[in-house]
Amino acid sequence: MLNNDKKHIGYIKDGINIDHIPCGNAWYIIKILDLQNKHNQSGVGLNLPSKKIGLKDLIKIENLVLTKDEIDAISLFCVDAHISVIKDYQVTQKINVKLPKTIQNIVICPNFRCVSRQYVSKFITSKNRQSKVCLTCHYCEQVFPLENIKNYNI
Ligand SMILES: [Zn+2]
Repeated sequence: MLNNDKKHIGYIKDGINIDHIPCGNAWYIIKILDLQNKHNQSGVGLNLPSKKIGLKDLIKIENLVLTKDEIDAISLFCVDAHISVIKDYQVTQKINVKLPKTIQNIVICPNFRCVSRQYVSKFITSKNRQSKVCLTCHYCEQVFPLENIKNYNI
């Protein structure tokens, strides 16, 4: 028998829960995972209070298993988040989201003259002195703080 609490909206039986997404970034993750074209039951919370980061977004998706490539892709939009893998209402695994060393294709170089705009973009990730994530374009070698990048190829 199911515990009544577990039938409430917000609980999922099998799937994933991505928590502590910086607010505003849930949209990018929805696009990367192509949720608008899938039939997975999903719950999205926007602008929820978070002690850690002020405001956060949260996404729960039923019956979805993330591939390594998907985790790498969404890591840009939820650095320091964690993904809980849920089986039969229990968290069976916690994946700490880490930024990969290089990011291909997803980011459009903000430098309008950059040659990467005609090819597949490639950025090298790093953190600056304020521990903010920065991306260095492999082609034009300019460095951009992640929070200033607004255009994505997703
Ligand atoms: Zn560039």
